Amino acid sequence: MACQVLDGKKMAEEIKKSLGRDIESLSARGKIKLVALEIGKNSSSGVYLNAQKKLADELGIEYQIKNLEPSISQDGAEKEISRLNNDDSVTGIIIEMPVPEAVRIERLLAKIAPQKDAEGLSPSNIGSLAYEKWSVAPCTASACLALIDSTGVKLRGKEAVIVGHSAIVGKPLSLMLLSRLATTTVCHIGTYERGLLEEHVKSAEILIVAVGKSRLIKGSWIKKGAIVIDVGINKEGDRITGDVDFNAAKSRAAYITPVPGGVGPVTTVMLMKNLVELYKSKRNA
Ligand code: NAD
Repeated sequence: MACQVLDGKKMAEEIKKSLGRDIESLSARGKIKLVALEIGKNSSSGVYLNAQKKLADELGIEYQIKNLEPSISQDGAEKEISRLNNDDSVTGIIIEMPVPEAVRIERLLAKIAPQKDAEGLSPSNIGSLAYEKWSVAPCTASACLALIDSTGVKLRGKEAVIVGHSAIVGKPLSLMLLSRLATTTVCHIGTYERGLLEEHVKSAEILIVAVGKSRLIKGSWIKKGAIVIDVGINKEGDRITGDVDFNAAKSRAAYITPVPGGVGPVTTVMLMKNLVELYKSKRNA
């Protein structure tokens, strides 16, 4: 069977259309507003901010970037979050990452009121994943799950392998896959150092890679007929590449996401989907 490339842009367009209809029907209840907190400036976050702003504009969502000084104290940043928590005009809050080293990101995320946590990264929302009941989940993890679901393949009992155990992708996704009864293995740098990465990847019927190392996963490691979701974003000269050797993997996988144009566009719409969810639950809509 020829490999099907999962088109993230197309999926994002479809979700966007349905969100547009939702937002239209909610418009009489007042504006939806997202505030992105950016602490200092970093070269990578600009791309995400622009993509988020463009999508918010298209959907009629107010999008405000709030820049905080890179030298801001932990206390100062937390006070700003409290202020936004108490501002009734604000539907959702996100923190652009990475933040300066002196700032403890986990404490900032804990400060965001769960009902304004548009990225689903506050401890309370992350905790809800463990209980298999969530209203908002981390956007990239949701995007991976939506792409897997788009294949129609049932997860129950499948061998799922995640490479990468970050708090924003690998860990939440592992809980989401467990809630669907996939047999879920999480690999990371420790797995690699012991020389066991290839063996685990070879067993994956569903493989999700979120590492940030170009072509770490060789085509020959892909199980025939697997679903391959590549989250990685790397630069190779002028090219953007994923963590999987795409061309080689394509000859073995049944489904694969491209980079760019796979997980990335779906992640951005998932943020807006979370935001609409928060808005609805606040208004019991
Ligand atoms: P991270 O940088 O926080 O962590 C990297 C993970 O990879 C860790 O679990 C680490 O142990 C593991 N790792 C490192 N080297 C390894 C190796 N040789 N073998 C196996 N595991 C190894 O991860 P992150 O923030 O989740 O980002 C991962 C990648 O995903 C980056 O390229 C990032 O740009 C990309 N990303 C993309 C999106 C999107 O929407 N497309 C969203 C988030 C992150």
